[in-house]
Amino acid sequence: MTENTQTKAVFLYPRRLAEYVFAPDHPFKPERISRVYDLCRQKGLFSHPSVRVEEVLEPEEGVLERFHTPQYIEMLRRANGGNNLDAAMLSHGIGTMENPVFAGIYDFSVLSATASLRAARLLAGGTLCAFNPGGGFHHAHADRASGFCYINDVVIALEELKRSGKRVAYLDIDAHHGDGVQEAFYQDPEVLTVSLHESGKTLFPWGGFAGERGKGAGFGYNINVPLEPSTDDEVFLLLFSRIALDALTLFDPDVVVGQFGTDTFSTDPLTHLRMTNNGYIEAVAGLHERFPRILALGGGGYNLDNVVRGWTLLWAELAGLKLEEGYGGAMGGVFLGDASIVDSDLRDMRLFTSGPPKESLMEKAEALISEYEKLVRPVLSK
Ligand SMILES: [Zn+2]
Repeated sequence: MTENTQTKAVFLYPRRLAEYVFAPDHPFKPERISRVYDLCRQKGLFSHPSVRVEEVLEPEEGVLERFHTPQYIEMLRRANGGNNLDAAMLSHGIGTMENPVFAGIYDFSVLSATASLRAARLLAGGTLCAFNPGGGFHHAHADRASGFCYINDVVIALEELKRSGKRVAYLDIDAHHGDGVQEAFYQDPEVLTVSLHESGKTLFPWGGFAGERGKGAGFGYNINVPLEPSTDDEVFLLLFSRIALDALTLFDPDVVVGQFGTDTFSTDPLTHLRMTNNGYIEAVAGLHERFPRILALGGGGYNLDNVVRGWTLLWAELAGLKLEEGYGGAMGGVFLGDASIVDSDLRDMRLFTSGPPKESLMEKAEALISEYEKLVRPVLSK
């Protein structure tokens, strides 16, 4: 596809995903996808000539086969009716509390992966940024569902970019370790993977420690930055700039694939960090300033309101549409005439950890940074 040369960012919209329900009381709510779309539209973030929305309606045949095993895909297909569960499915992680069988499980999976694959093709074709809010399922393994993830669209997107000849890096700022992606590229020096997440001492998937640095030729190309409970924006941004941005800069990718989960925020019901969307969006902006080509994927986030505001800010950043704080609705030179259109109403109250707990967090952060500088930086500097 030839892109309008003015197009900066494409919002992939697999609208139908929003209609599925994992289970009535399941924390992962696919409706987040349409709610993010609605808020972006309400804020005027699609009405600029440099951006466009691309609906993803048709699932692409063969997309799951790019990463998943035939046996596992067959399990998803068999579970698609929503009411059949057997021991074989359970042995592949399907039918658990976290990954229940639901009606349309296979259709959901294929459409989600299709949207991420399409985003990868756009980036390979020269589009600067693309965002699939219906992707980012970083825990799924080739033959097993895990942590609310049935398929790993992240790996599929990274592989597509790699195959197209792009030098590609992966950055994961979800509160959970991106274990499925780590596993896929653990011995591969051609794909740098960086994950910042709450420590595996206190959170699923119970791994992602700093000592997991890749294997063989891949040593040094897998970076984990475990965050202590109560980590705030300041500590996060310190680690983000000194480790993640530094490593990405040394690696010098053409495209950064980002998993931008919003479950690091203090109000998230499943995690124990104390971030706000201010630290989150400052990190994304810092990344974007250095790397203009970003394929953004969704991910975790279990307070719906947080997810929706966080990803609307994310889209505004990728699209280069800055909503002026405290300034009613002037955007792209057009006055939108709606006093509610200001950035500030999307931002959280700032929140900081202080006193001795903060000092302890800073000490641990400095230790992670010096370890990175001693053991990993030399490999990336070669
Ligand atoms: Zn998460």
